[in-house]
Amino acid sequence: MRKKTALIHGGTGVDKATGAVTPPIYQTSTYKQEKIGQLKDGYEYSRTANPTRTSIERLIADLEGGVRGFAFGSGMAAIHAVFNLLQSGDHIVMTDDVYGGTFRLMQRVLPKFNIEVTFVDTTDLAATEAAIQDNTKMLYVETPTNPLLKVTDIEAIAAITRRHDLKLVVDNTFATPYLQQPIALGADIVLHSATKYIGGHSDVVAGLVVVNDDTLGEELHFIQNSTGGILGPQDSFLLVRGLRTLGIRMEAIEETAHELVSFLQAQDVVSNIFYPGLASHPGHAIQQKQATGFGGMISFDVGSAANAEKLVEASHFFTLAESLGAVESLISVPARMTHASIPAERRAELGITDGLVRISVGLEDAEDLKEDLTHAFSLLEKVSEKTV
Ligand SMILES: *Cc1c(COP(=O)(O)O)cnc(C)c1O
Repeated sequence: MRKKTALIHGGTGVDKATGAVTPPIYQTSTYKQEKIGQLKDGYEYSRTANPTRTSIERLIADLEGGVRGFAFGSGMAAIHAVFNLLQSGDHIVMTDDVYGGTFRLMQRVLPKFNIEVTFVDTTDLAATEAAIQDNTKMLYVETPTNPLLKVTDIEAIAAITRRHDLKLVVDNTFATPYLQQPIALGADIVLHSATKYIGGHSDVVAGLVVVNDDTLGEELHFIQNSTGGILGPQDSFLLVRGLRTLGIRMEAIEETAHELVSFLQAQDVVSNIFYPGLASHPGHAIQQKQATGFGGMISFDVGSAANAEKLVEASHFFTLAESLGAVESLISVPARMTHASIPAERRAELGITDGLVRISVGLEDAEDLKEDLTHAFSLLEKVSEKTV
């Protein structure tokens, strides 16, 4: 089965009980036992398993090429469940510009359980290997990253984790399983904020995890059932529904993204564009090697906080909002929104300037998006020299 077909025919397929072509929403907490302990298809209680959740869990496992999938109530719940595989005293090596919520979890929650982290630029393989300690158990990579779209070489990192007997975890939210399948590149665990491209319609908050072997599958199911951060049946249904169109959505989004990048290159006020599809982007060759596309996230610098503010407030079809990966184009200023909780000094180190604007390309007509930006750009002042 090729990818677009797997999105529709992968997973559990039509409902066995009724032939329903979409998964029924099994809005039930418990299941009748004919005799004590005699379960129908293994269903006992919906925290442990629910057929609608099973349909998304099987589907994401197929799409990522793993053995078992798990659905959680948010991306953060999924990420936290993966860290529950660790023990007190363990250490994680992690991409330095991870999602803000992941950074906060590492800084404010996991230290309470004596789990340590070292942040490192995982695009730098030597620095990444040097950050490994005796108690390191996991290497956690996000690629491409937010908002600068830094690209880590998953295969090269997987070789490092094999040498040191670590688990490799990849946050695949930005690339989606349609464009990138980290397990085939050597990852042990792949996870998603399914709130983004997988749901795809800004109508559900959810997280997904896929593992590459049965032992990890058993452990993670034990954690999911024991800690209870499961996804409900309605939201599980929405993810299956969202995934059906992931292929055509990603293709359309990417086509518009390329048009918008060309448009941005022609704007005097734009001094820097971050998009892995640009040949000048440092991660371009790696992204081309390890994925089948460059995605729909673009960041660019308009030179000042004032310009960034004017741009996002003047654009009409780009909705000013956090989040990404939906049918509607979204626009944000990372320094004041998603990354506001990161100290200014640290933002400067990471290259997240005050004039940086991030867009998540949606499915609107590209001409409308360009006209919208043309108007917004006409209100800005040129403040910086063009470098890209
Ligand atoms: C949004 C996001 C998360 C967190 O997911 P939630 O569904 O918001 O809990 C994790 N990683 C990345 C890359 C994200 O964009």
